[in-house]
Amino acid sequence: MQIEKTAPVMVTGATGYVAGWLVKRLLEEGLTVHAPVRDPENAGKLKYLNEIAASTPGQIRFFRADLLDQGSYAEAMEGCAIVFHTASPFVIDVKDPQRDLDLTPQQVMNLLRLQLRELALGSRMVWDCVTCYQCQEHCPQGVEVADILYELRNEAVRRLPPLKPRAQCPAEAQREA
Ligand code: SF4
Repeated sequence: MQIEKTAPVMVTGATGYVAGWLVKRLLEEGLTVHAPVRDPENAGKLKYLNEIAASTPGQIRFFRADLLDQGSYAEAMEGCAIVFHTASPFVIDVKDPQRDLDLTPQQVMNLLRLQLRELALGSRMVWDCVTCYQCQEHCPQGVEVADILYELRNEAVRRLPPLKPRAQCPAEAQREA
């Protein structure tokens, strides 16, 4: 995909896991990324993105916006050549978190406190967390729940076996011949 590098690009949901990798890639290419976030003053939530920006040729700019607030993305979108829309509203009214989540974030934190890292790594929550930061922003103990889950996911990814090369399908081989 060819991207015009002189204009900024907007990435919604930039603090999320998938978008975080996308932002990293764009910054490495030297692009200016406009990142609309709920709270641009929240340094803790933006530290990963700022660290990436500091070590790459690209630049990142944060804008205040909320997915459910109509028109709030206009400022961030101004002048952008492309919009990567990865943000999504999420459900917070869960009737039975134990059933839906397997282990809750609090239980994963407890496993880590008990030095049961392998059990924590094997929990579904590591993959289901959408890094919305709700728990981290409201934790009365200041536990950086979202960041910890993020790190666990990175560790789980590092442990995945390398992908095998995809077998070429006959139609593809014919096209290349
Ligand atoms: S950041 Fe916290 S509240 Fe948000 S999805 Fe992950 S564990 Fe749940």
